Amino acid sequence: MAYLLADGWVITMNARREILEQASLIIAGNKIAAIGTRQTLMAAYPEAEMIDCREAIIMPGMVNTHTHLFQTLLKGLGDDMVLKKWFTCMTGPSAVALTEEDVFAAALHGCVESIRSGVTSLVDFMYAHPRPGLTAKVIEAFQISGLRGHVCRGFLTTGREQGIPAALIESAETALADARKVIERYHHPEGRVKVGLAPSMIWALDEKVLRGTRQLADETGVLITTHVAETDFEIQQAQQRFQSSDTEFLSNIGFLGPDVLAVHCVQCSTRDIRALKHHDVRISHNPCSNLYLASGIPPIPAMLAAGLTVGLGSDGPASSNNHSLFQAMKTAALMQKGVHRDPTIMTAEKVLEMATIDGARAIGLDHQVGSLEIGKCADVVVVGTDHPAMTPIHHPVSSLVYSALGHEVTDVFIDGQPVMRNGEITTVNQREVLARSQRAAQSLAVRTGNDRYRAWRSSAF
Ligand SMILES: [Zn+2]
Repeated sequence: MAYLLADGWVITMNARREILEQASLIIAGNKIAAIGTRQTLMAAYPEAEMIDCREAIIMPGMVNTHTHLFQTLLKGLGDDMVLKKWFTCMTGPSAVALTEEDVFAAALHGCVESIRSGVTSLVDFMYAHPRPGLTAKVIEAFQISGLRGHVCRGFLTTGREQGIPAALIESAETALADARKVIERYHHPEGRVKVGLAPSMIWALDEKVLRGTRQLADETGVLITTHVAETDFEIQQAQQRFQSSDTEFLSNIGFLGPDVLAVHCVQCSTRDIRALKHHDVRISHNPCSNLYLASGIPPIPAMLAAGLTVGLGSDGPASSNNHSLFQAMKTAALMQKGVHRDPTIMTAEKVLEMATIDGARAIGLDHQVGSLEIGKCADVVVVGTDHPAMTPIHHPVSSLVYSALGHEVTDVFIDGQPVMRNGEITTVNQREVLARSQRAAQSLAVRTGNDRYRAWRSSAF
């Protein structure tokens, strides 16, 4: 099957960052087969199904480098708390009560929500293992929805005294043995769905599991992702336990490398940034979550100046309340402009790079996705411009970053497969997915006796 996306603005994100006006693109099999004029491509691919893009932008599918899909059930329950309270009072207890049905409902909803907003590749960080088999449910959701991604088997091995629920804490041996099983069963290096390793955060991990993670990654070649320097509390904990920042500690034990995707890095010092660069660590920047949890403003301009690769993430919907990279792009630009009082410090072009080609590089997939180039995998998104928010259009990159709301996405191809056509998800019944998720979310909130949920049910604000 071939598709001809005809006569749109094509934002290539290729090395020259070319933007082509009234250009067309052919998807054949799972690849981008040609870019050119409609007439030439129609002649070369007469059998291709044509999609009229005269009022549309054709862009690379976006790469969400960090989320926790199970948190899709927790939207709104974490408002107005700092991370430690948010985790120990709300997210942690909810994670303890998760069933397989909850995780599947949440993950499938999160995948659908991601696709609808132009995400074609997503890194899921699944650290909640109160019972076995939950990671398998996340993987199933990726397989069914058609989304590309890394499902990272997470773990917490300590932190009881800091408020981590006992049911979430595993021994290093249990966590690594199960991670190995998940890798052996589900990881395909060239497949659409890959497995990764996700040690949670320094205050809930011990040195043994970090060293074991490095060893397992070296052996299997999978991606590692971990939260780094997210909050003041995390830095204090690292100082108390290791007499250094978490970044320095991870550097000292030989943990860091280009296969490590460090999430947040809000409190990284100049010295930490040097260490991250030295090891070519990749960064996942989650601006909405950092602001929502009042964690702070990450030094992204300094990281970019140091030459680090920075991708963009939504973080889990318990701390960002959706999976939108459109919101993440706009927030990433605005937060730095405001804080530095410099409108040039973070441009629309730079954040679009973070959401596409730099995000792909951050997870080691830039040779396959992240730009529209002949021979690359066909992860392609069509964004309509015939919407009030997108009109007038002068510069399509500016329109995508600052004007688009996300619902303008009409068509999404992943690995050449049309997973969304004319505004409809093709792989699953969206109505059923959302109803299932709503039921699971309400049941989970009731079972865990969530204070905020109870308050909202019984009073006006
Ligand atoms: Zn996270």
